[in-house]
Amino acid sequence: MSLDAPPVGRLAPSPTGAQHLGNARTYILAWLSIRSRGGRVVLRIEDIDSPRVKPWAVQQAVDDLAWLGLDWDEGPDIGGQHAPYIQTQRIDRYRVVLDRLREQDLLYPCACTRKDIEEAASAPHESQDGPVYPDTCAGWNAGDPLPEAGQFCWRFRSRRQRVSFVDRVVGPQSKIPHAVLGDFPVTRKTGDAAYQLAVVADDIAMGITEVCRGDDLLPSTFRQIDLFEALGHPLPQFVHVPLVVGSDGRRLAKRHGDTRLSYFRERGARPEAIVGWALWSAGLLQSWQPIQPQEFVESFTLDAIASEKTIVTVAEYQKIIDASF
Ligand code: GLU
Repeated sequence: MSLDAPPVGRLAPSPTGAQHLGNARTYILAWLSIRSRGGRVVLRIEDIDSPRVKPWAVQQAVDDLAWLGLDWDEGPDIGGQHAPYIQTQRIDRYRVVLDRLREQDLLYPCACTRKDIEEAASAPHESQDGPVYPDTCAGWNAGDPLPEAGQFCWRFRSRRQRVSFVDRVVGPQSKIPHAVLGDFPVTRKTGDAAYQLAVVADDIAMGITEVCRGDDLLPSTFRQIDLFEALGHPLPQFVHVPLVVGSDGRRLAKRHGDTRLSYFRERGARPEAIVGWALWSAGLLQSWQPIQPQEFVESFTLDAIASEKTIVTVAEYQKIIDASF
């Protein structure tokens, strides 16, 4: 692919609950980043995190995104050349990728704690990464006996060399994955793919060239870079945008009040108010004013995104509802 080919990005909601203001801002920025350069957008539903996935949240996420004024060229509702776009329908594809890694002796079975393994299904937001895995099971060699079926996950041998990349918003990043992040699960105990594996397998299969998401997933990027490289695939451009936090500085959650997009919709809020808030709070608009994503396509630039976390307050939720900004 030529260097100046239009980018391909993705919106990748996890239907583990309702999408909120913070998610909305990330999707708006990810969409604008791609559309401002004439690129294509893929919608992918990341629903492998059972039992946390809520069936109602899939359609609601699609409706929320469309309500915000975002659109996509491929997705579960409209199909496309890389279908299916729902991760639980892509399990067989992940098995093929896991086999490729296993053949390279990059995986080993790990029968360590249940908690470690359960956490494998979700994107590890913020401090959910847990302690560095102490390599308890890493001595396994291909051909050694496997633990009892259903009692182990497959873990990836993370790189012992330094990994560096330049993020379009947060700048140069560098870590030694094995030392600071440790070996990580690429399956659950069921043998099904875990978050890190599914994301990389899909980004490769769907031709994604730009990954834009919240900066709490920065540690995952080092893991994913290891996977991209083990699979012999060029890296996408990474763009980590600052998180939206509540007034206590913590990731937006229920304790901060109702910030569900569906809540604002039900109260008659206009999506333009949320888009305006998102662009203003990201440092892209001088003042908070109603705007549709499409109207900002020409003006958008990643270089102008403020890199600090954004605090959103209850007073601002009310302003969105009253359109009083
Ligand atoms: N589905 C993940 C989430 O909503 C995002 C994963 C990603 O963008 O790589 O947290």
